[in-house]
Formats: sequence, structure tokens, C-alpha cells
Amino acid sequence: MDKFFAAQAKKKPQEQDAPISEQPPTAPPAPSKHPKGVVLDKDGKPCRTCTSSANWAAMMKATSASTSPTPLSAALTSSSSSNPLPTDCPPDVDTLGTHTWTLLHSISATYPSRASAQQQNDMRSFLSLFSRIYPCWVCADDFQTWMKKAGNEPRVEGREGLGRWMCEAHNEVNRKLGKEEFDCGRWEERWRTGWKDGRCG
Ligand SMILES: Cc1cc2nc3c(=O)[nH]c(=O)nc-3n(C[C@H](O)[C@H](O)[C@H](O)COP(=O)(O)OP(=O)(O)OC[C@H]3O[C@@H](n4cnc5c(N)ncnc54)[C@H](O)[C@@H]3O)c2cc1C
Repeated sequence: MDKFFAAQAKKKPQEQDAPISEQPPTAPPAPSKHPKGVVLDKDGKPCRTCTSSANWAAMMKATSASTSPTPLSAALTSSSSSNPLPTDCPPDVDTLGTHTWTLLHSISATYPSRASAQQQNDMRSFLSLFSRIYPCWVCADDFQTWMKKAGNEPRVEGREGLGRWMCEAHNEVNRKLGKEEFDCGRWEERWRTGWKDGRCG
């Protein structure tokens, strides 16, 4: 593997170089794990599930600029810039994330209010495995690091604790991405009971 890419792929976010478009023409392409850049996988190839569809599409457009029109370039000209690819393409970091959070919060919402020892062990194992195999490796690395910090261990005794913990985990990612934090006092309305105004039926 190209050493440059290998080194880049192992870097933490604050160590990353500027995205490809900001590099001088003579420099090799510089991947980034920031949301605005194309993130490399550990094998040195671009990681689709670590990269937003907009940046993925921009990369594909740049690399196919000299070739004749393809289905991708057709899609790029007809789609919006925030979601430039058709919905039946492999997921980008955002689609993967939203669907995964739906699964994780739904698991919390259906977790027993008082979990048995076996259920607690199962949940600990699931979260530990999940944090190792999540398909966006940079997300997984950061999630594992967060979980290992004192006070951030999964709270698996019952639904209320797990739901709050999941909300806090999600808020950690929200903060990292500069997004608004969610009010964890309302996680159950969002993911289990529906909002108190009745709009969820
Ligand atoms: C474990 C994990 C780690 C991730 N790490 C990264 C990363 O490092 N870099 C990256 O670019 N993306 C990461 N993502 C994806 C990221 O979290 C978002 O899913 C993605 O940016 C799309 O965001 P969104 O605004 O559509 O809403 P999402 O964050 O996907 O949220 C979906 C819905 O959940 C609800 N919600 C929001 N916050 C909370 C909360 N705290 N508790 C309960 N409900 C909530 C809201 O109703 C929201 O509409 C990660 C995803 C996961 C599952």
C-alpha cells in the first residue's frame, strides 16, 4: 500500500491534512476523515461508508471528468448537491449513521425495563462487537474511545438507563459534528412512545 495513504488512514481527525481540493497541484491527493473530505479505508482505498455522498460524488466526478458521460455523471447533473446520488446506491456516512441510530435507539426502546443478567451480558457483548465492526472505521474508533472513558460504560441494567446512555453516545457524535444536542429527557418520546402532542398516533 502507498505509505502516504497508509499513514493518512491511521491519523486522527485533528491530524488530518486538508481535503483533496485544497492541496497544491504537485502534492499527492490528501484524504481526510473530516466530513468535508474523502476518507480512506485501512487498505488505503476511499471508504464510502466513512464519506458523505456529496464528497464521494465530487471525487467520482473529478476522476471521471475526462471520460464520456456515465450514469453517475448523469445523476450528478440532475440531483441536488446535498444528496447527489440516487437512493439505491451503497450508503454514505450519513445514511449509514441515520439508519444505525434508528436501530440502536429502537433496541434501547424495546429493552426490558429491568434486564436479566443474561440480557445485560448480551447487550454488553452487542455494543462491544458493534463498536468494532461498524462499517465507518473512523466513527467506530472514536465510539470505542468514548465508551472506554470512565463514566461512559454502557448502562445495561434496564431500558431507562440504556436509552439515556444511547442518547448521550449519540450526543457525543452530534457535538463532534457541530450539531445541536438532543434533549435526552425526551429520548423515549422520540423512540418509544411518540411525542406527547399525539402526532405519532
Ligand atoms: C456510532 C456512530 C458513530 C458515528 N460517528 C460519525 C463520525 O465520526 N463522523 C460522521 O460524519 N458521522 C458519524 N456518524 C453518523 C452521524 O451520527 C449521523 O448519523 C449523520 O451525520 C446523519 O445525521 P442526521 O443529522 O441525519 O441525524 P442523525 O444524527 O443520524 O439522527 C437521526 C435522528 O435521531 C434523533 N436524534 C438526534 N440526536 C439524538 C440523540 N442524542 N438521542 C436520541 N435521538 C437523537 C433525531 O430525531 C434525528 O433526526 C456516526 C453514527 C454512528 C451510529
